[in-house]
Amino acid sequence: MTTTLITGANKGLGYETVRRLIAAGHTVYVGSRDAARGRRAAEQLGDRARAVQLDITDDASVAAAVKTIEADGGLDVLVNNAGVEARGADNGLVGAADLTADLMREVFEANVFGTVRVTHAFLPLLRRSASPVVVNVSSGLASFAHVADPAHPAAAYPGVAYPASKTAVNMITVQYAKAFPAMRINAVEPGFTKTDLNGNTGIQTVEEGAEIIVRMAQLDPDGPTGGYFDVTGPLPW
Ligand code: NAP
Repeated sequence: MTTTLITGANKGLGYETVRRLIAAGHTVYVGSRDAARGRRAAEQLGDRARAVQLDITDDASVAAAVKTIEADGGLDVLVNNAGVEARGADNGLVGAADLTADLMREVFEANVFGTVRVTHAFLPLLRRSASPVVVNVSSGLASFAHVADPAHPAAAYPGVAYPASKTAVNMITVQYAKAFPAMRINAVEPGFTKTDLNGNTGIQTVEEGAEIIVRMAQLDPDGPTGGYFDVTGPLPW
């Protein structure tokens, strides 16, 4: 039996990933910073979904989630999915002219430090698994090759904090993958998906967006590690 934790799983891509991995036979912890939202999601997702309160910016919350999952028997797959986008007071994207250190810190607190906090806390459990897997949900906006190419659609994106945070997630992925060769650790780009993160302006459905997350969460021990993928294959860094 494979046991999986997905952070930020009460809605959006995380929720859809839970649904699909349960269908594939996993038992899945639905990480949610709001306990009630997590419980509601888990109830909708059925018997093999278990709600766990988990705020990726909070050491105590993460430590409590580790205790719960350890007591239940351990963890095989961690999907670092929870993330935030930098939005201003008018809910618009914050470009270079308006970016403050505080906003940068807020985005890094979740997307970067949160990913490290959760991964670090669950490493002991993952290392006990026979087939440990980590999926870091990155973004196409993490790619220097795409964002710096005027001919690529990603180049038109004006935000700074979000892409920078996801580029950091990519580097974290590469370095962790080298440090833990027994684990499959990859970064994925779901594609521009209709969720609350982008005010539901995305062009893909969550079913389409979750596809690469679901695929990389089910890697065999001889699968790729330290890579950056979308649904079509490896992406340029
Ligand atoms: P979403 O619908 O807004 O879901 C984000 C999830 O993250 C929510 O469950 C949210 O919880 C949770 N979250 C935020 N901060 C958290 C924290 N401190 N602790 C725990 N959970 C937290 O967005 P989404 O599009 O599904 O995003 C999922 C991932 O995909 C993110 O990492 C995002 O950057 C990435 N991504 C999305 C797209 C896209 O086009 N949608 C493209 C590329 C990458 P609440 O419900 O409590 O707010």
